[in-house]
Amino acid sequence: MRALILADIHANLEALNAVIEDARAKGGFDAIWCLGDTLGYGPDPNRCLEIIQEYPLGAVAENHDFAAVGKRATDDFNYAAKASAEWTRSQLSNEAVSFLQDLPLTAVAGQFTLVHGTLRDPLSEYLVDQETASANLDMMATPYCLVGHSHMPFICWAELDFEINSEKGTPEFLEFTEDQAFSLDQLRYIFNPGGVGQPRDRDPRSSYAVYDSQERLIRRHRVVYDIALTQKKIREAGLPEHLAQRLSEGL
Ligand code: ZN
Repeated sequence: MRALILADIHANLEALNAVIEDARAKGGFDAIWCLGDTLGYGPDPNRCLEIIQEYPLGAVAENHDFAAVGKRATDDFNYAAKASAEWTRSQLSNEAVSFLQDLPLTAVAGQFTLVHGTLRDPLSEYLVDQETASANLDMMATPYCLVGHSHMPFICWAELDFEINSEKGTPEFLEFTEDQAFSLDQLRYIFNPGGVGQPRDRDPRSSYAVYDSQERLIRRHRVVYDIALTQKKIREAGLPEHLAQRLSEGL
């Protein structure tokens, strides 16, 4: 079984299509594991939701997804996020709304737990340092966990018997190197595949990962997409200019 791991699609249809095409060319996939923020910021919310539902799907929600269906307040959103949440809400089909309303905050797929932020705060906490990683590892009921939210790719690992050891191991962050096969051994891991529709690691190419359960390997890839077309659609929708601009900068 091969799972295509997608985070932070952000209604970017060109990025999502490019990723799916690239993943097919690199051996294909049997299911999509989607780590939330499928909507928000981008111009194609309905189409992106339809596409991910064409495959066997494991999906979790995040603040932009819930904000779009009124399940989360947007008071703490910045101007661009709030404007895009309001615009997205006005665009959503009935099918999209009912899909989003039923999304769980966490899901388990095989040996992986899927969550957008962290297990202690699935909607809004960023897993970016040893403290948040350590708290997350303590709460993991599976050996591996997949997160999104920061739009920054990484691998974080810790000893398997993390909870049992009286002396707690410190989680270590590693670079999730592009195109390199990473073997899942007897440690515990947290992966962030990077962002599909709004990468923020100063590389504008879409970032995603594929897990192969037979080989027990996970790989991260990057793919170029038609950024100019997405930007044109963002401007035509009247969404904030900043949302178009940041795509060319990978920020
Ligand atoms: Zn996001």
